[in-house]
Amino acid sequence: AKANPMGKGLGASPGAACGKIVFTAEDAKEWASRGEKVVLVRLETSPEDIEGMKAAQGILTVRGGMTSHAAVVARGMGKCCVSGCGAINMDEANKQFTLAGKTYHEGDWMSLDGSTGNIYDGAMPTVDANVGGDFGRIMAWADKFRRLKVRTNADTPADAARARSLGAQGIGLCRTEHMFFEADRIAAVREMILADTKEQREKALAKILPMQQGDFEAMYKALEGKPMTVRYLDPPLHEFVPHVDMKEEIDELAKNLGITSEEVIHKINALHESNPMMGHRGCRLAVTYPEIAEMQTRAVLQAAIDVTRECGYNIVPEIMIPLVGSKKELAFVKSIVDETAKKVFEEQGMTLEYHVGTMIEIPRAAVTADEIAEEAEFFSFGTNDLTQMTFGFSRDDAGKFLGAYYDNKIFESDPFARLDTDGVGKLVQMAAKLGRQTRPNLKLGICGEHGGDPSSVMFCHKVGLNYVSCSPFRVPIARLAAAHAAILEKMGK
Ligand code: PEP
Ligand code: MG
Repeated sequence: AKANPMGKGLGASPGAACGKIVFTAEDAKEWASRGEKVVLVRLETSPEDIEGMKAAQGILTVRGGMTSHAAVVARGMGKCCVSGCGAINMDEANKQFTLAGKTYHEGDWMSLDGSTGNIYDGAMPTVDANVGGDFGRIMAWADKFRRLKVRTNADTPADAARARSLGAQGIGLCRTEHMFFEADRIAAVREMILADTKEQREKALAKILPMQQGDFEAMYKALEGKPMTVRYLDPPLHEFVPHVDMKEEIDELAKNLGITSEEVIHKINALHESNPMMGHRGCRLAVTYPEIAEMQTRAVLQAAIDVTRECGYNIVPEIMIPLVGSKKELAFVKSIVDETAKKVFEEQGMTLEYHVGTMIEIPRAAVTADEIAEEAEFFSFGTNDLTQMTFGFSRDDAGKFLGAYYDNKIFESDPFARLDTDGVGKLVQMAAKLGRQTRPNLKLGICGEHGGDPSSVMFCHKVGLNYVSCSPFRVPIARLAAAHAAILEKMGK
């Protein structure tokens, strides 16, 4: 059927969705529990929306780019998402919006195409994805030719299992902060973030440890011995701290921390950052609060030991430190990992081989990759942040102005979706070369969203990376692109 879209946003997470419009995560959950198909329409999403996103067929946001919260989380879930449709005039209070001159109310039907970003009026029929038959045969051919390994970005046991079924050879990025989006878990993380003292923080961490360890165990089991890179906490604070007007959450936090709600609000205000994407996140968190890295090391290693004992897999944990910009920063966090590992091995009466590596996602890390490789056993290029920081384009806000760049032929494509090989790619290539000068067997991968974009995958092949890691539903595309790259190379092209 041919249909004319009524609007367009960014194709943030592939797939098709069709459902009735709802405006809040609670409504999405409630309507879905009655058997309704819904599309969740939000200005932007935050961790509070996760349950609603799960319940919806698809997600549409007014704000945000290709690597904003809605986009990254939806891709991880394998859920259709169109983000950054700035043409929508939103009226949340009255549960309605206008687009292309028409007003849409709660309950009206709409359809989304998460690949093109097209938005359609009314209900369009959709079919479920399937990787069997001829498709499976073509994938098997692709696998024969490719040199690049294809891993997936997955944060839950369910995602890990699905990614395996789509042909992923392991997990290249487990974003541990994504393991805490659920309501009962996010409370403990908020407690940790807002803790004043080491004791308070350790109390919150003690709640988090068993959840984290349990998830890692389930993921190691789902992977059946295939590798997993666990990325230590990297929460941009604005995505985790509740808004000061969220009374229920604030009161609960106050109770858990043993302080008044006013004091919680005061703390939240004090934590406010002008630019959270460049704020207190990534390894900066472990530098200020080493106990967080200690807890995560315990969770990874104890889970690996338990599953090795139970299932006999040869698990070699890969621990990845995010947002590193200097060798000393990495050395500091690595020493916490190593000291904790020693303790865990003594307690358990067993040792495991494990590797500590880093993400290369800050330009300084790329420029000093030869030094960083003295500490890092592997690199994974975080091209979402590397693109953000190389261009100086905020991941959360670029959607607002990039349109003018396409219109004026300054850019042909979104650099957050297709790797800017001339600039960001040059940094990748340079860091790969410098890193291998120091450590010839340095393992190199990419885990930014570009890892699932065909032209970017071909670039990764050319510059000699070992693997790409992308969201689960893009694994087949990455397998195919990796084969293309290998075949073209053979043909001398
Ligand atoms: C990246 O920056 O490319 C990355 C994979 O990490 P995140 O998107 O979680 O910042
Ligand atoms: Mg990053």
